[in-house]
Amino acid sequence: MADPLRLVLLGPPGAGKGTQARRLVERFGLDPISTGDIFRRNIQEGTDLGRMAKSFIDAGELVPDEVTVGMVVEAVDAAPGGFILDGFPRNVPQAEALERELAARGRPLSAALAFLLDEEVAMKRVAGRRTCQRCQTPYNVFFDPPRVEGVCDRCGGPIVQRTDEGEETVRRRLEVYRESTAPLLKFYSDQGLLREVDADGTEDEVAGRVAAALADLG
Ligand SMILES: [Zn+2]
Repeated sequence: MADPLRLVLLGPPGAGKGTQARRLVERFGLDPISTGDIFRRNIQEGTDLGRMAKSFIDAGELVPDEVTVGMVVEAVDAAPGGFILDGFPRNVPQAEALERELAARGRPLSAALAFLLDEEVAMKRVAGRRTCQRCQTPYNVFFDPPRVEGVCDRCGGPIVQRTDEGEETVRRRLEVYRESTAPLLKFYSDQGLLREVDADGTEDEVAGRVAAALADLG
């Protein structure tokens, strides 16, 4: 039997990474490991790492890489088969630490899957998102607008934008991504692990490209 897939996912906001991750999880029976979830769980359960992370978050500071890496590695150890890391690593030092920890366990990454998307498209996908406040039907003012501006086609309810998806916020997130990710792409490329996927397309189209990019691994 083939080695279980151990994947890192990289991609800007709006690239559909979360959706593709869910499809991979189902298809290959992988454990999804998201740093957001790990943080929440460790903090909720009051673990040592969780308490440490919380002290930084409460102080309005970034959680140091070693604390984050510690929590991710614990989650990896709890996932004996394949896994998908989404939202981690965010920088080269984290990637290096992850590589060391995985090598020590004889469980190196199978691939780093990078979703490529033009920034303007990413911008429209995220900043264009709206949701009906009443029935939760999703819209996009650029790609899939309601027939009447601001009004849900299905129930006539008001459609609203999330406060963290305003244009300025999304621009900032894209900038942060661009700056932190370029070095990560090079890091994984140097390791021969980088697999790039064009994320401009429908969910099914992108899923097909993902499958092709990983075909020799599964
Ligand atoms: Zn509605």
